[in-house]
Amino acid sequence: MNTPVGIYVSIPFCKAKCSFCNFASDVFGSERMDSYIDRLCREIVSARHEAQRTGAVLEASADSVYFGGGTPSLLSPDQFRRIFTALRGEFHISQEAEITVECAPGQLSSETLEALQREGMNRVSLGVQSFVDREARTVGRLHTGPECEAEIARLQAAGVSKTGLDLIVGLPHQTEASWRESVDRALESGVGHISVYMLEVDEDSRLGREALAGGVRYGAGDLPHEDDVAEWYEMGCELLQKAGTGQYEISNFARDGERSLHNMKYWRRLPYIGFGLDAHSMLLSENGSVRFQNPDGMNVYMNDPTGPFPMVGVEAQERPVERVSREAAFEESIFLGLRLNAGVRLTDLRESFGVEMVESLMPSMAEVCEAGLLTMDEERIRLTAKGRLASNEVFSRLLVAAAV
Ligand code: SF4
Repeated sequence: MNTPVGIYVSIPFCKAKCSFCNFASDVFGSERMDSYIDRLCREIVSARHEAQRTGAVLEASADSVYFGGGTPSLLSPDQFRRIFTALRGEFHISQEAEITVECAPGQLSSETLEALQREGMNRVSLGVQSFVDREARTVGRLHTGPECEAEIARLQAAGVSKTGLDLIVGLPHQTEASWRESVDRALESGVGHISVYMLEVDEDSRLGREALAGGVRYGAGDLPHEDDVAEWYEMGCELLQKAGTGQYEISNFARDGERSLHNMKYWRRLPYIGFGLDAHSMLLSENGSVRFQNPDGMNVYMNDPTGPFPMVGVEAQERPVERVSREAAFEESIFLGLRLNAGVRLTDLRESFGVEMVESLMPSMAEVCEAGLLTMDEERIRLTAKGRLASNEVFSRLLVAAAV
């Protein structure tokens, strides 16, 4: 078991809250940001102790670090320095490690960019969402299309070796033509990685509340029809594919050599550890694997009594840890692996879980294949293009069968 670990660091700060966002992120003052970094660093230095307590294997070497959020680019050079010092004290982060920082266009100062590059940051993921100003503005993004293009050019000129961006299909006011424009401009920008997310309107987001209660502020009345969104997603997949930015996961497209190595760990069930608000971890253990997660409320996280370094005056408690059963690991291997275009190797499943367990799934796999949602050959199972649009249905049909 010498698989290097992936490290996720949650930075849940944003300059403004986007209307569709249901992440555990918000707008906070600089004092709170600073005390959060202290808390985060204490968590990092306690990681090995925590892993030991839970019986998990935490490798000393790490080959990916991912700063997500939120908008991590809002941190100062000094705040990043403190985090990297804590990380390097606990982990050997290899020279070749993929180090990604999520940024919002126009929200990465040149000082922070330089500091990050000195720390080995080699990948930036930009939250563009749309190059069309009206769409970006309606959901609360603070940038324009030309500003996004200028930001990408700046990062490339500064020598950031891998750049990527996120787009959302299904935004208020979006049309087929405006979606196509965003995809075209993303390709023209020269980034090597593009993520495409279909907008899911969450009831707890501002947009979701407006969709339920009515109103005009967030454009809930101007959301495109879901059938159109599905068509545009497929059109986006084709345009990206034709331009050499091939799909490798339901929402992710990359040129050769530009896939996100960190995110691949999630889909391949490779070990990762998360630090910070709402961060999740999955580590291997002697008998399989364990999962645990941090609180998703800022006050709870800041005063979290779990772990070896509780806040002063708070009684230490043990953090709940889920020991992943063999059945649950089998299910995860299927629904996470099927997200990848490469699909799941049946030989790997048989080796890890036994022939019997895989055979038990064959009748329902055959049914899902019959419905045109899955393909299966001697070696692999894979979602079809239709299956990628109905992935939740496929997963639940297979998982019900796996649980029987
Ligand atoms: S910048 Fe990202 S994390 Fe922050 S509110 Fe917008 S979508 Fe959510």
